Amino acid sequence: MSTTAGLVIPCKAAIAWEAGKPLVIEQVEVAPPQAMEVRMKVKYTSLCHTDLYFWEAKGQSPLFPRIFGHEAAGVVESVGEGVSDVQVGDHVLPVFTGECGDCRHCKSEESNMCDLLRINTDRGVMLSDGKSRFSISGTPINHFLGTSTFSEYTVVHSGCLAKINPLAPLDKVCILSCGISTGLGATLNVAKPKKGSYSCCLWSWSCWAGCARIAGASRIIGVDLNPKRYEEAKKFGVTEFVNPKDHDRPVQEVIAEITNGGVDRSIECTGNINAMISAFECVHDGWGVAVLVGVPDKDAVFMTKPINVLNERTLKGTFFGNYKPRTDLPSVVDMYMNKTPLKTTWTPMTTSSSSSSFSVRVKVPVSLQGGME
Ligand SMILES: [Zn+2]
Ligand SMILES: [Zn+2]
Repeated sequence: MSTTAGLVIPCKAAIAWEAGKPLVIEQVEVAPPQAMEVRMKVKYTSLCHTDLYFWEAKGQSPLFPRIFGHEAAGVVESVGEGVSDVQVGDHVLPVFTGECGDCRHCKSEESNMCDLLRINTDRGVMLSDGKSRFSISGTPINHFLGTSTFSEYTVVHSGCLAKINPLAPLDKVCILSCGISTGLGATLNVAKPKKGSYSCCLWSWSCWAGCARIAGASRIIGVDLNPKRYEEAKKFGVTEFVNPKDHDRPVQEVIAEITNGGVDRSIECTGNINAMISAFECVHDGWGVAVLVGVPDKDAVFMTKPINVLNERTLKGTFFGNYKPRTDLPSVVDMYMNKTPLKTTWTPMTTSSSSSSFSVRVKVPVSLQGGME
């Protein structure tokens, strides 16, 4: 039992008071965990594009004030009633989508879209009582994705926590709680490349080149509007670059030409609807598979000619790389512990409107290096 169990914990958090306005680091009160909830001390948290997307609130429902953050690693501080699978002191990764273990999805080998705990971007409260565990002078502060890791302490549903190897360095495996696992799962579990050499096209996410390499890709084509990212992306395994701005025809035509008909696998991570369509149309007919990962504008519509599908191209989508967070994430951490280097660079979190820094740190940038050789 920790000395703070059952008590409100005052700590620092980065508060988003309004869409697009700088986060303010200030003291927040974190209530104890209720039934099936866990309060954790966040040791490391990273900035993921989805945080920015909802902070900007363009094309999404605005919900403020709010504590963002969903990629993190930490230690269990206390647990609420009914929690039996994690204990005080356990090392854990919070995940934006959960696993109740009982619903049809959790019982299916094919799905990680838990009925109870699947991602809900519009909910700012806890499931058990519809209330927030965060407040400032009595004003409730909304949660984000059930994780809200831009806080020194946060409360998470126990089904959204993966208990991991206590020897795993939290500053490294932090990035497995969203981005890297999503990229790895999108390539290994969803794109499912055949054994042997194949080509893979990645849309704007050079960090995932390492995931494609782990999955055996020999030719990794990075598509990016920013030529400055190319040099860095090369270090992580991108073998060729295509900048749509360099061409006066659709980029999928350019990719089809340089790959003799299209790539074997394509993974789209930006959420831009036109990039999604290009990512689908650039795969080879007969066997090509495109996987959508990025979060689109909620009104976006995917348009392509049906003949592109009839010609035996496959379009798939995934949340969190089809990994079940509690069941599968510990083995992803072990995979890292055994072989795969992760590289992170950390910087203290401060904001322009706050001179105080925050003991939780934000990683900029993050990358996965190398393969499994
Ligand atoms: Zn994320
Ligand atoms: Zn479930």
